[in-house]
Amino acid sequence: MMTTSDPTAASNAATHAASADVIVVGGGPAGLSAAIALGRSRRSVIVVDAGQPRNARAHGAHNFLTRDGESPLRILELGRDEAARYGVTIVNGAVSGVAGSVGSFTVATEAGDTYVGRRIIIASGIVDSLPDIAGLAERWGIDAIHCPYCHGWEVRDKTIAVIATSPLSMHQATLFRQWTEHLILLENEQFVPMGEDALALEARGTRRVAGKVASLRVEQDALTGVVMEDGSVVPVDAVVVASQSVADSAAIRDLGIPLAINPMGTFIETELGGRTSIPGVWAAGNVTDLGAQVVTSAGAGLMAGAHVNMDLIQEETREAIARIAQ
Ligand SMILES: Cc1cc2nc3c(=O)[nH]c(=O)nc-3n(C[C@H](O)[C@H](O)[C@H](O)COP(=O)(O)OP(=O)(O)OC[C@H]3O[C@@H](n4cnc5c(N)ncnc54)[C@H](O)[C@@H]3O)c2cc1C
Repeated sequence: MMTTSDPTAASNAATHAASADVIVVGGGPAGLSAAIALGRSRRSVIVVDAGQPRNARAHGAHNFLTRDGESPLRILELGRDEAARYGVTIVNGAVSGVAGSVGSFTVATEAGDTYVGRRIIIASGIVDSLPDIAGLAERWGIDAIHCPYCHGWEVRDKTIAVIATSPLSMHQATLFRQWTEHLILLENEQFVPMGEDALALEARGTRRVAGKVASLRVEQDALTGVVMEDGSVVPVDAVVVASQSVADSAAIRDLGIPLAINPMGTFIETELGGRTSIPGVWAAGNVTDLGAQVVTSAGAGLMAGAHVNMDLIQEETREAIARIAQ
């Protein structure tokens, strides 16, 4: 299904319904920014978006200059309107596969439509894989959080428990102390701090609780405690967990883009401007940078759009030179 907001843009967009200079996979902050940069560069652009941005469950997006606290979905709605002003076509749907190579990529959607583009930008974000704790998924982005720059201010001075998932949880236990004195590390049989780690926690007054976490206790739609496997309850207002970030998708697999791995998850390694190792394919946003925020993902999308535009200009210049040389 195709959508645009501005009727003028819609007629312009329809011209490019089946083929475009650039096809963008994913219409979050990265994909829409790339599309706007390209649309403003007088490129035809089709964005195929499954409509499930990573932060959809959060009430508001923070640390985004001039949009602090705005609903993530509202930001994307505004972004779609801006893209439509420059003739960008937005297709609601999921990309199920990509074939072809630089100059002519064919993008297929789950709905059975196909779109042809000279270049591809992958901006499909990541999926957060959460530890298997009953009730955690339901509270994710509300009072089960991962990022202090997204939610830290909202839970300042509250009782916050970091649920350890690996030794990397020491990083979160160190970091979140900036937002509250009432910090607890639930070791969860995943991480027992020793030596300097143990000393640092003790020095900052962070309480440690041994034992495995079983579930979250929720009352009147608010997190009130963490239930341990022995049945005891640790009263808390919020929990901090590290998700594993998964960048994998059919488009990435079909294009043969290798995924790199670090302790946070998998991602696409890119050169300056988001160029991947596959000719004609760029990537931007969380899919390339697991720590990227909304505004930095948008910035990366803009740069990818600009670099793709330059790549197309260079191709067109080579073709023009070849024509006059004939
Ligand atoms: C709970 C939570 C709260 C957060 N809060 C903040 C905050 O307050 N401030 C902040 O700056 N950052 C925040 N973030 C981080 C923020 O979500 C990311 O920085 C941002 O979403 C990355 O943008 P993106 O465009 O790379 O990916 P996304 O926003 O995830 O967008 C990717 C888009 O691609 C689509 N897609 C995926 N696969 C396909 C496919 N096969 N075909 C078509 N479309 C596809 C998805 O459905 C989605 O619409 C938060 C993250 C989480 C998890």
